[in-house]
Amino acid sequence: MKLHEYQSKTIFAKYGVPIPKGRVAATALEARHIAEELGGRVVIKSQVLVGGRGKAGGIKVAKNAAEAEQLAQQILSMEIKGLPVRKILVDEAAAIEKEIYFSITNDRAAKKPVMIASAAGGVDIEEVAATNPEKIIKVHIDPLLGLRDYQARDIAASINLPREYWRDFSKIAEGLWQAYRKTDATLAEINPLVITEDKRLIALDGKMLIDDNAMFRQSDLNEMRDTDEEAPAEIEARKYGLSYIKLDGNIGCMVNGAGLAMTSMDIVKLFNGEPANFLDIGGGAGADKVAAAMRIILSDSNVKAVLFNIFGGITRCDEVARGILVAMDEVKPKVPMVVRLVGTNAEEGRKLLENAKMITAETLADAAQKAVQAAQQN
Ligand code: GDP
Ligand code: MN
Repeated sequence: MKLHEYQSKTIFAKYGVPIPKGRVAATALEARHIAEELGGRVVIKSQVLVGGRGKAGGIKVAKNAAEAEQLAQQILSMEIKGLPVRKILVDEAAAIEKEIYFSITNDRAAKKPVMIASAAGGVDIEEVAATNPEKIIKVHIDPLLGLRDYQARDIAASINLPREYWRDFSKIAEGLWQAYRKTDATLAEINPLVITEDKRLIALDGKMLIDDNAMFRQSDLNEMRDTDEEAPAEIEARKYGLSYIKLDGNIGCMVNGAGLAMTSMDIVKLFNGEPANFLDIGGGAGADKVAAAMRIILSDSNVKAVLFNIFGGITRCDEVARGILVAMDEVKPKVPMVVRLVGTNAEEGRKLLENAKMITAETLADAAQKAVQAAQQN
């Protein structure tokens, strides 16, 4: 789950990371009032779940409350990378002396969190990583020991931070680490962390990603979820407990089990097809879940054929067949469908589908080939 800048910064502040004074607004008039409270000079920041808002014109500095209202109006009517701006953050504007990049993410290869910093902070960190990787400092954190004080100082020294800021920087590093750890985040990023002209360190921007698998113990964060910004298919999938990832191909795949889903996608590719999605309906899926999965697959207009690959273990093939029939009744699909059922109650499942005009297959290779062929012809 992605958090908005204002949400991320609220979490940072809770763990002792200094952030600018400010509040979120949904109208230009509200923005004006907030600007008046903050003394006039503010920055108006679009709250959309994409990066590069500054370059897209979604971040503007206002000299006074009247200008804040005007710029807020302008930004609230914008679309940034296809997302309409519904909310803006009105922050006290900072006078920036230097911009630093600072984050923690999960390093899968090292199986540890990694703290990343660069003196070349600001808007183009990806470019710095590509062209000047030596300007990016990485320090791994032992999850059992936590962040050690000397590690924060090492980073401060490596990015040539003047010594007078080291104490504050260490506090920010510890705060960012606690924010990352306590919220089950997979990313906690400050870009930029700035040195202001009046010699303070402040997190000007914030971005957090929370591990969806940890949401069961992060119930207060769940309330921060902004479903306006999510694709309808993803919201539907979450509601039914389906693991769904949309891809660019044209063969919709409905499979039970993550490993089997990946295998199915591999075999589709082996026969020169392109999967339209990854979809794991999970073990023991009933008819309603199968129907939801089918609605999700068919809502993608790229889908030219659907491949069902069901291995009946805990999941019963007849239940899945019933789900397919319910969904077909409801959505009246126009694309060819290839089905392979094996395992528990496969025979009953096949009988139920006999009248459903589906292409049946015995093996996965057979099913994948038929699906690829059907998609080409359709
Ligand atoms: P992003 O483009 O989505 O990463 O949004 P940021 O919040 O990082 O803002 C982009 C850039 O706008 C920053 O790198 C700063 O250079 C500038 N900026 C943001 N807030 C302020 C501010 O309060 N004062 C000034 N002068 N510039 C700001
Ligand atoms: Mn930024």
